[in-house]
Amino acid sequence: MANTKLPLKYIFTTGGVVSSIGKGIACASLGLLLESRGYKIAIMKMDPYINVDPGTMNPFEHGEVFVTDDGAETDLDLGHYQRFTHAKLSRRSNTTTGAIYNAVIQKERDGAYLGKTVQVIPHITDEIKNRIRALTVDEDDVDIAIIEIGGTVGDIESLPFLEALRQFRLEVGPENCCFIHVTLVPYIEAANELKTKPTQHSVRALRDIGIQPNIIICRTGISKLEKEQRQKVALFCDVPEEGIINAQDISPIYAIPLNFKEQNLDVTVLKILGLEVREGDLSEWIDIVNRMLSATEEVHIAAVGKYTGHGDAYKSINEAFVHAGIANNCKVKYEWIDSERFDPGKEKPEEVLQGYHGILIGPGFGTRGIEGKINVARFARENRIPYFGICLGMQVAVIEMARNCLGLKNAHTTEVNPQTPHPVISLLTEQKGVSSKGGTMRLGAYPCELQPDTRAYKAYAQTLIYERHRHRYEFNNAYRKDFIEKAGMIISGIHHRKFMDMEEELTEIIELKTDIHPWFCACQFHPEFKSTPLKPQPLFCAFIKSALQYKNMK
Ligand code: GLN
Repeated sequence: MANTKLPLKYIFTTGGVVSSIGKGIACASLGLLLESRGYKIAIMKMDPYINVDPGTMNPFEHGEVFVTDDGAETDLDLGHYQRFTHAKLSRRSNTTTGAIYNAVIQKERDGAYLGKTVQVIPHITDEIKNRIRALTVDEDDVDIAIIEIGGTVGDIESLPFLEALRQFRLEVGPENCCFIHVTLVPYIEAANELKTKPTQHSVRALRDIGIQPNIIICRTGISKLEKEQRQKVALFCDVPEEGIINAQDISPIYAIPLNFKEQNLDVTVLKILGLEVREGDLSEWIDIVNRMLSATEEVHIAAVGKYTGHGDAYKSINEAFVHAGIANNCKVKYEWIDSERFDPGKEKPEEVLQGYHGILIGPGFGTRGIEGKINVARFARENRIPYFGICLGMQVAVIEMARNCLGLKNAHTTEVNPQTPHPVISLLTEQKGVSSKGGTMRLGAYPCELQPDTRAYKAYAQTLIYERHRHRYEFNNAYRKDFIEKAGMIISGIHHRKFMDMEEELTEIIELKTDIHPWFCACQFHPEFKSTPLKPQPLFCAFIKSALQYKNMK
């Protein structure tokens, strides 16, 4: 389908008025619409903060860290891109001010600038432009590259990025670029009106830098942008009326592309880029949205974690629940519950978690709330409530069984208690001696072999799977035999590797025998990072299916 004769086209998306305005979902939705018309897209996010990547940031600060197959720790917007589009995501798909300065400073130290003074313009802006070009170097059949610029126009730290875009437009030709500005149009109750002035100011700030948007996406909350306001934005911002898009809050988020399509966003973009408006087919997507809307049966999941105060801290898990709901024709109602509530001496899981049909314990780091998680894992195991553990959620299940089934009273992970007499979870061999924190975990996709006649095998219906990791600790195989014999554990997923000439088997999935528990399964990897509405993740689907069965048995 790709038309290699045409030059590569670029869409640049900026944000105005406030942050967290949904640029990521807007880019992802547009990507989906363009793909549905047979165009191949690439997509990336540029973040103006100084961290080299978000991997070192607390989820309270920045939300989830999304991991790509090639092991990059990236912004959570890449999760949206993956869920809506087929774009190939890699470490090229996300960059930051920190990464850009890092590269420029390294080049300076290597003497690459031949005695010149190194400056924001041209050296930093050149590096930004190089990264935009590098996005598509491995794929020569991409038609359209979508570049999202994080932050808000007017921020000091966004300036080099916007300046680089201004230059880039001239270099590749204005006819090959489309600028989209996403802004907030707030509703002011006292005036009973949507106010377009902040959008006008934000566009003015953009024009000061030399960028004229072609399209403005107006986030209006629950209100609708009426014709009169649309005309006003068009007039003041110098954008044709068909380029003013009304983006109301829509649920489910997977219906957002349909709203954009109704307003011909994709057609307007293709015309601006001089591309043919091909017939589109969105039927598969419409079908999943309809299935989401029409599901009536509900299943209630308690999701236990420590970053529950930030709505996006477990973004991909939340979405994977939604996808598993589509696969099971039900609505998954999940509630994140702070694990500290179940720490010793506080609330009992028996008092709080009785009414749920399934329990998930999510990923996490450090000591806070870990005893609470161990208590919850015990509660789910003893009460035969479907249990799904992810990463730390697998590790706490192991610790719990060690303490309560194997009789190893002070069993722990060495992450929390390096002196534990029973280190059932211990540091991965290659992590010994690693002290640097950025990008040093076991990251990215690794093969995992599933064992026959297990829940994991049944869920995936294949032997070899690839899932993404982000951890430093693992199941300590010295205890394997004890767990199998005394706890009824099955090791259902194994990664085989040669490490420093030693054959090693890493335990990637554990489960309990079906006669002990109807559905108890936990994995060391992060299955949520590969789930999409069109391809729901197999373990999530199986977990939700077992929760439905549990509900109907009750
Ligand atoms: N802290 C644990 C480890 O590093 C679990 C990590 C996670 O849950 N992503 O192994």
